[in-house]
Amino acid sequence: MKKVIIILIILTFACLTFAEDIGLIQKSMIMSTLWQTTSAEYRALAYQAYNIARLRLDEDLKIKRTKKRAIIVDADETVLNNTAFEIRTIVDGAQYYGDFDNWVKSAEGKAIPGSVDFLNYAFENGCDIYYISNRKLSHIEGTLKNLKALGFPQAEESHILLKDNTSNKGIRRDQVAEDHFIVMLIGDNLIDFEDIFRHKNIEERYSSVDNIRDEFGKRFIILPNPMYGEWEKTLYGGTRQISENEKENKLWEHLNSNK
Ligand SMILES: [Mg+2]
Repeated sequence: MKKVIIILIILTFACLTFAEDIGLIQKSMIMSTLWQTTSAEYRALAYQAYNIARLRLDEDLKIKRTKKRAIIVDADETVLNNTAFEIRTIVDGAQYYGDFDNWVKSAEGKAIPGSVDFLNYAFENGCDIYYISNRKLSHIEGTLKNLKALGFPQAEESHILLKDNTSNKGIRRDQVAEDHFIVMLIGDNLIDFEDIFRHKNIEERYSSVDNIRDEFGKRFIILPNPMYGEWEKTLYGGTRQISENEKENKLWEHLNSNK
């Protein structure tokens, strides 16, 4: 009995130390990742995005187009759910550089709710599906395997356009647009839609969104991602290449300037 009590005390202290030791970034990752992983609200939003996409596609199918239709989707957190990897970064200290390669190879990503059904519907209705992702070229095999296993249409090399020498997706979008009419783009990050959102500060991102407000829910379908993305990089002044301390300071600055 004594032993059990001692173990319990040690465990309690270990938990308390962990809770106190984790910084602001880690704390925010826990809640955002749990929200994306466990909340039914997240699922509902994903269904909402793909339901709207279907509505917009049905509208477009009534119009005669001379070019073949295409739908462009991003991969991560748009069709592939990587929350298990994000959880590993919190619980096991997995690092994006290195461990994400293994995660991609494992092809264990789950499908974002609504995505497989919608993209198969679009494909059956004559659309070409293109997956434009900033995963590295070396991720092609794992990405293909994952998309295929989940039943996504056109999971083939010519339809998966990964990051070559630039994260600028405009070049790859233009490539698709050469011989397609792009009905819509689906993503979780504003740079999945237009390059005007690259390298902007918070105010500029706001006004860029305001300027094209009518496109959202029409040609641009956006999914939520509170775990990472351009929005989060923007908090750090547009780069993640600063120390954890500097990052925390930036977060406090944003909190204090918005209260
Ligand atoms: Mg994404």
